[in-house]
Amino acid sequence: VADKDEAQGLKNIRDFLKVRTGYDVFPLSFRLIVLDTDLLINKSLNIMIQNSIVSAPLWDSHTSRFAGLLTATDYMNVIQYYCQFPEEMSKLDQFRLSSLRDIEKAIGAVPIETISVNPLLPLYDACKGMLKTRARRIPLVDKDDETGREWVVSVITQYRILKFIAVNNEHNTVLLKRTVRELNLGTYTNVATAQMTSPVLDVIQMMVHRNISCVPIIDKDNRLLNVFEAVDIIPCIKGGVYEELAGSVGDALLRRPEDSPGIYTCSEHDRLGAIFDTVRKSRVHRLVVVDDENKLKGIVSLSDILAYVLLSPVD
Ligand code: ADP
Repeated sequence: VADKDEAQGLKNIRDFLKVRTGYDVFPLSFRLIVLDTDLLINKSLNIMIQNSIVSAPLWDSHTSRFAGLLTATDYMNVIQYYCQFPEEMSKLDQFRLSSLRDIEKAIGAVPIETISVNPLLPLYDACKGMLKTRARRIPLVDKDDETGREWVVSVITQYRILKFIAVNNEHNTVLLKRTVRELNLGTYTNVATAQMTSPVLDVIQMMVHRNISCVPIIDKDNRLLNVFEAVDIIPCIKGGVYEELAGSVGDALLRRPEDSPGIYTCSEHDRLGAIFDTVRKSRVHRLVVVDDENKLKGIVSLSDILAYVLLSPVD
């Protein structure tokens, strides 16, 4: 980082994260839905939909231990499994959450390492841990002093961390004046895209194989129309009816819940500080970089932003 202000802003944000803990990120009161690994996969879907959640910590009640996180990626793996082993389709409603790791192995997916951190540790360390693994969320697991038993306090996501930074560091984020292009922030080559008429299954396979959580949907002139996100599959397989996956991306996007946050775009000339303003005000999970004609240029994911803020050299 050449610019002095920019370096100072980044340093201040890092110092901020070093003196805050996992506990600081949470409101005084919040709910956490933890699912038992004996639960049927299909039932877990309904619970996610009814509670408007897209991930949940898993609990193994046989060992009384935390057993990882359930996310949209797991459902994508299940779908991929049936594409590879259609003869297994009849067993669909018998699979439990405890089978997810076997499904992952069967399709040859690289398992997402679940690192958990103690909520009393500095947030800075939790973030670095998250960036080192492919994890997009980190469970905060504490130990009860008296019984020595583990319990899951909550889960922090990249989204929550960036929001927490944005809300508490307005004076620092204004210092981040370099643009998306100057920072080379995000991905601009070989961007995975699809069209409204593409089959949902193709898009899911693309996300599983490339290990990405979204695919921009463009028209024939490369204009951005929408973004298909990993979480968009959940309403498609509601009730365990996988037939709907035969449909197009356009049909699948119609099933989005009404309160879904929508898509956010930015230009290559936007400053990182301006992106933090958007994060402060809105439910942003990624930004699609477009030009003046709304043509797709690239993607800036939350992990791209977090990696720059935490890992770029400042001296
Ligand atoms: P996150 O890690 O924040 O959940 P992603 O999994 O979508 O976000 O992104 C992981 C990496 O892949 C990022 O560096 C991002 O720029 C890149 N990426 C995201 N979507 C695509 C895509 N459709 N095509 C190519 N690269 C992508």
